[in-house]
Amino acid sequence: MSQFGAISHNLQRDVPLAKYTAARLGGPAEWFFRAREAADYDRLNDIVMAAWADDVPVRVLGKGSNVLISDKGVPGLVVVDQVSQIDYQAGEADTWQVQASAGTGLIVLARGCQQRGIAGMSWAVGVPGTVGGAIVNNAGAHGDDMAASQPTVIALEHERGLVTYTPETLEFAYRSSTFKHRDDKRFLVRQAMLTLPAGDPMAIKAQMDEFNAYRVRTQPPGASLGSIFKNPPGDYAGRLIEVSGLKGHTIGGVQVSPVHANFIVNLGTGTASNYYDLIRYVQQAVSHQQGVQLELEIELLGLW
Ligand SMILES: Cc1cc2nc3c(=O)[nH]c(=O)nc-3n(C[C@H](O)[C@H](O)[C@H](O)COP(=O)(O)OP(=O)(O)OC[C@H]3O[C@@H](n4cnc5c(N)ncnc54)[C@H](O)[C@@H]3O)c2cc1C
Repeated sequence: MSQFGAISHNLQRDVPLAKYTAARLGGPAEWFFRAREAADYDRLNDIVMAAWADDVPVRVLGKGSNVLISDKGVPGLVVVDQVSQIDYQAGEADTWQVQASAGTGLIVLARGCQQRGIAGMSWAVGVPGTVGGAIVNNAGAHGDDMAASQPTVIALEHERGLVTYTPETLEFAYRSSTFKHRDDKRFLVRQAMLTLPAGDPMAIKAQMDEFNAYRVRTQPPGASLGSIFKNPPGDYAGRLIEVSGLKGHTIGGVQVSPVHANFIVNLGTGTASNYYDLIRYVQQAVSHQQGVQLELEIELLGLW
């Protein structure tokens, strides 16, 4: 029997993924495993290593806040990393070493740092992803990003085991890292060690409150995937969509947000196909009216 065959009979089958995504959309995973505590990591290792060895496709989800999953679902194995573990150590010269498991929520991390007087993560207070997803995407906001925390990352990889990446080998760029465009996808970010400066807890809190207030003012509530399109050089995707008259445009149960045109919101009755159709509609309308081809910031997962 194949390695994955020997393990897969203990895995859940055909698990709906909508509740594991921020847009609350998407069909089932063929096989599914969710790691909830550190003790699950050994089993997670065995499962993904067996899948990789047998060429079973594996996709990892953190909070699913940057992925649109097809209604037809995702073939192969989907693993969800919800392991939240943070260790804070005071370092030299007013710095802190903060080690976080990949499944740790960015908001939890930002708040934990603030309470201990650790600066450098305030930008993440309104970003609904995990540390793993933030490393892959080099998430950022308010002019700051993951790269600025100089992460050293440990990842599990096919045929290599645990591999350590330094800030240099992570090749961070705008919303991108060495992991982002790896076609094989045979890696699992496991943890990140961040080097962060000490700061005043009250000043950090004031900054976080300001960032949160800004989000409440400028971004819609509800089920969405954040910014759908990359900003083209020298312009804003949201502006281009707005001047194309698309704010509020609705297909099925999804809508271009009337609050922020680069957000597409699931009104509660939407499907992933509605979402995808609206993305294509917006791309075509903006291309036709403004002569700009908008590129996706989010990732499409599964069968399209
Ligand atoms: C309302 C809203 C606001 C947002 N605002 C921002 C913002 O201000 N700035 C910003 O940068 N982003 C923003 N985002 C997008 C999103 O939160 C970030 O991209 C975040 O980093 C994604 O993390 P995640 O855990 O949800 O990743 P997912 O969406 O689950 O996955 C994203 C990618 O990372 C991979 N991945 C995730 N975890 C692992 C892992 N452990 N190992 C290997 N691969 C992994 C996935 O396979 C996928 O390719 C926003 C999203 C929403 C819904």
